[in-house]
Parts: sequence; C-alpha cells; structure tokens
Amino acid sequence: MSVYISVELQRQIRNKFANCCAYCRTAEYLTVTTFEFEHITPRSSGGETVFENLCLSCPSCNRYKASRQTALDPNTQQKIKLFHPQQQLWTEHFAWNEDATEIIGLTPIGNATISALKMNRSQLIRVRKMWIKMNEHPPNI
Ligand SMILES: [Zn+2]
Repeated sequence: MSVYISVELQRQIRNKFANCCAYCRTAEYLTVTTFEFEHITPRSSGGETVFENLCLSCPSCNRYKASRQTALDPNTQQKIKLFHPQQQLWTEHFAWNEDATEIIGLTPIGNATISALKMNRSQLIRVRKMWIKMNEHPPNI
C-alpha cells in the first residue's frame, strides 16, 4: 500500500537519515534498490504520514518490520518496543562490532530490533565485508 509523500517531505527524511537505512544503516548508493519511506507507527495503527513518523528504510528492514511495533528481546524473551528512528538515537541502542560487519545491541530495544529486522542477516554481513574493503563502510553518519 503506497501513500503520497511530497517531494519536499521525502527530501527532509533523506536528509535526516543521510540516505541510509534508519535501522541497519546501509547506504542506499551502495545497493541496487531504492529505499522506502517507512511509517514507524504503521498506518494500520493510526500512524500518520508526517516527518515525525517517517524514516528511510532499506526494503529488507521495511519488510521484516512490516506493521510490527514490538518484538521479543532474544536475551530475555520480553516484549520490547522496536527502535524509533525519529525519537531515539541509533548510537544509544546500537554499535558496530570491532570490524563493523555486525550491529551489536546496546539495550533491549537494540537487541529486539536487530532480531526482528534481521539486521545481521548473513547476506548483509557478506556485503558489509565487501564495502569495508572498498572503504565504504561503516557509513559516516
Ligand atoms: Zn535496513
């Protein structure tokens, strides 16, 4: 289901997230896909099409997130609210591991979001290794 998002609003969101996925931080220009404008609170739950409720997302994170707002923290099996890219700072909930191939959760929110959105899926780790060799990763945000 697509919804009209004005060119100006798209520009503001792209700017805010530096043309990277708000979740896995993949840079759009390194991929062959067009990133999507994701409703953080889904439209099905009343989320509006406004700057404060939109982020830039790679198609994979967007598909895995779908209409979810919570997920289980794999460490505690507790239901946790997913990371909110407009209200929370990525660096407070996530960090790169030593060689920047994997995202580490720093909080239950980080852990639940990594798990639900599969932010360390094996294909992604493989391309991150390639991007590191190209000096294109991790993104300088
Ligand atoms: Zn992503």
